Amino acid sequence: MARITLRQLLDHAAEHAYAVPAFNINNMEQGLAIMQAAAAVDAPVIIQASRGARSYAGDIMLSYMIDALEEMYPDIPLCMHQDHGNDEATCASALAHGFTSVMMDGSLKADAKTAADYDYNVDITRRVVDLAHWIGASVEGELGVLGSLELGGGEQEDGHGVEGKVSHDQLLTDPGQAVDFVRATRVDALAIAMGTSHGAYKFSRKPDGAILAMRVVEEIHRRLPNTHLVMHGSSSVPQPLQDVFNAFGGEMPQTWGVPVEEIVHGIRCGVRKVNIDTDCRLAMTAVFRRVATQSRTEFDPRKFLKPAMDAMRDLCRERFEQFGGAGQASRIKVTPMSEMARRYRAGELDPRIDSPATIAA
Ligand SMILES: [Zn+2]
Repeated sequence: MARITLRQLLDHAAEHAYAVPAFNINNMEQGLAIMQAAAAVDAPVIIQASRGARSYAGDIMLSYMIDALEEMYPDIPLCMHQDHGNDEATCASALAHGFTSVMMDGSLKADAKTAADYDYNVDITRRVVDLAHWIGASVEGELGVLGSLELGGGEQEDGHGVEGKVSHDQLLTDPGQAVDFVRATRVDALAIAMGTSHGAYKFSRKPDGAILAMRVVEEIHRRLPNTHLVMHGSSSVPQPLQDVFNAFGGEMPQTWGVPVEEIVHGIRCGVRKVNIDTDCRLAMTAVFRRVATQSRTEFDPRKFLKPAMDAMRDLCRERFEQFGGAGQASRIKVTPMSEMARRYRAGELDPRIDSPATIAA
């Protein structure tokens, strides 16, 4: 069995200069696709569930699916992560269902749509860190509000995302504040805002530095070289998938995602977790459209789901290879959560932050 914490996995990724894609799960087919891809290239995985996924599948179904995936693929280190936890209760109940990691997104209030202030974010994140670390689980925090620099706001996905206009400043994580935040909260990983947004409609043109602020990643990494950074909304929305979707009756307006080469650049700047959901959704639903159009008498759901699962598997495999995770699974010996808890208590996993004098240079 190989259920791993986010912290141990990202420490390994940092040591060996790769990143782990985090794919969302809602159903069995997505779980199988992710694990088949991981097994094919010997890559460790992060599977994450949003609050929407937990209410769609139900916590009991979801936790047994993860147990099943773990049992089917005992050689693949599997981190089970809560995506965008909105309060302590969401995070605590995820841990109770076998998750080894949670995101406490305190950039928004518990309603998951109102931008929160910095003190609120620090307080709630620190509380979740205290709780999780007692049992050896990991915490991802979020500083800065995720959203589009083009539109000045976020996009709702699975009921999560800022509503209304937010300032340009809020949409970009402040590097100085990031240092303070990591020190105050002791998060294991930090999600940062730099122009990526959720959903398919990220950019209205191929992104440049004005709308995808990779300079923010570079600067935060310079000040926090030992902190694992997380890129949200990092689907690439490949043109071929958009084309298949639209060739078979879809009406998706032309859109641009985050180019894989920008993500690879981010990986050189401390990005260790890359969240990808839209690409997986699109890979599957483009196949649904093709099957429905080409085989109009087909009514067996498996004839839709099997090729859709294969398409998602191929996409996941490509990302494992592009982000450098291929070949890494067999190099990891999973540390039990009880041992992680001991290390937290002993202070061995406290954030390593250089003094201001050394980073000013
Ligand atoms: Zn996200």
